Amino acid sequence: MDSQQFREAAHAAVEEIIQYYETLPSRRVVSSVSPGYLAPQLPTSAPSESQPWTSIQPDIEKLIMPGLTHWQHPGFMAFFPSNTTYPSMLGELYSAAFSAPAFNWLCSPAVTELETVMMDWVGQMVGLPDVFLSKGQGGGVIQGSASEAIVCAMVAARERIVARKCEQEGLKGGTRERERREGLIRAELVALGSDQAHSSTQKGAIVAGTCFRTVATKKEDDFAMRGASLKQTIEDCRREGLEPYYLTTTLGTTSTCAVDIFDEIAEVCKEYPDIWVHVDAAYAGSALICEEYQHYSKSFAQFDSFDFNLHKWLLTNFDASCLYVRSRADLTAALSITPSYLRNAFSDSGLVTDYRDWQIPLGRRFRSLKIWFVLRSYGIQRLQAVVRGHIKLGETFADLIRSRGDLFEIFTTPVFALTVFTVRPPMAQRSRDTKAIASPADRPDPTHEDYTNDFTPDAQAQYLFNANRITKDVYETVNNEGEVFLTSSM
Ligand code: PLP
Repeated sequence: MDSQQFREAAHAAVEEIIQYYETLPSRRVVSSVSPGYLAPQLPTSAPSESQPWTSIQPDIEKLIMPGLTHWQHPGFMAFFPSNTTYPSMLGELYSAAFSAPAFNWLCSPAVTELETVMMDWVGQMVGLPDVFLSKGQGGGVIQGSASEAIVCAMVAARERIVARKCEQEGLKGGTRERERREGLIRAELVALGSDQAHSSTQKGAIVAGTCFRTVATKKEDDFAMRGASLKQTIEDCRREGLEPYYLTTTLGTTSTCAVDIFDEIAEVCKEYPDIWVHVDAAYAGSALICEEYQHYSKSFAQFDSFDFNLHKWLLTNFDASCLYVRSRADLTAALSITPSYLRNAFSDSGLVTDYRDWQIPLGRRFRSLKIWFVLRSYGIQRLQAVVRGHIKLGETFADLIRSRGDLFEIFTTPVFALTVFTVRPPMAQRSRDTKAIASPADRPDPTHEDYTNDFTPDAQAQYLFNANRITKDVYETVNNEGEVFLTSSM
């Protein structure tokens, strides 16, 4: 494809994308294809001859669209929000065009330097304490996902406690004795998270090669992790001969959007300074751009790391997960390896950041571009308005549910834009009925009326479900007791 062919193809692709968004509400939200639908429609091997864009592009509509579930559809209510915007797409376009796997500053200084500035902008926007910004000992880095952020934090936590213990025992680095002792220490480490923490904490513990235990939560606390329960778990682990070294605390759990009691957790963790505390705010962290929620950010001052996904709620497309650490040296001590082929004068000078040392892969994409475009295109005030608007929709939705106490029951206190509710008893039918009104398979394709119907107190369950659609994002989730609930978030 030469420049002229690219110009024509790119214009045609952009036109099709715009057309896609302009007609999106008329599409069916969920794909209706059967497993294995695609392979029979494709050749069994790559073409040996080149094909023009004019023959490739139509296959988007013909072959790909039927197999897409439209996450940006106004009627999409599954899982969690996963937004994108035109400025964000433009960032991706430039990133793909520059295509530099910029692992070191030297590889493309703009990639590193824009990321540092953007992470500081975003950190300030969400009211993080200064310790997490680059002007101090900390800083932010873009990861691909909240799960990757947890793995990085956990490995840094593991190596921090191993190093501390070896130093206390006077063991010098580089000796076989130290290596053996490090292995023994690692074998006794245990990572903690509440029984509501996202599964990525347990997965992180598998990757880090350590044990994992959960801290119990209670429904009467809206499933928030409390200090007393944390302390109990820490002490139980120690009695078992395990050493807690890492804790995930959550702002907005996946099942019910529970917000842990950070002040109590900070108080308990003062007694256990070797425990690295990570705040997982994957979804709800975006709400911290509004001043009314920044008391949460302030309570993170004692913690070691914080992460949230811009790609969930702040108009930036997947992937853009923002990880902040209070000590970048802890992260790089665990993840930095410098073979001769990566050495260069700039890195050796210590004056530049090499983000390869803050993550698992070596290469990295130019993801800060799309963040820059989004922040400039919308500005903080409009982003705040989006978040506040969604929270307001969530409140409206919760009020609708409350107004039909005969049909529905709110299960936990609604938080941010999320409401969790069940269909009222008879209990034996509760799970089945709740699922029935949530399940896309059991309802017709959404129509325009579905979005514009006003809820009336006399409406039946299906009608209420249509009202849910006005909140644009309702999803079902299974709590740890195995019941199915509808949850709404925007
Ligand atoms: N943490 C929480 C609280 C989540 O809700 C999710 C996903 O929904 C994750 C972590 C995992 O996010 P990611 O897909 O970015 O790894």
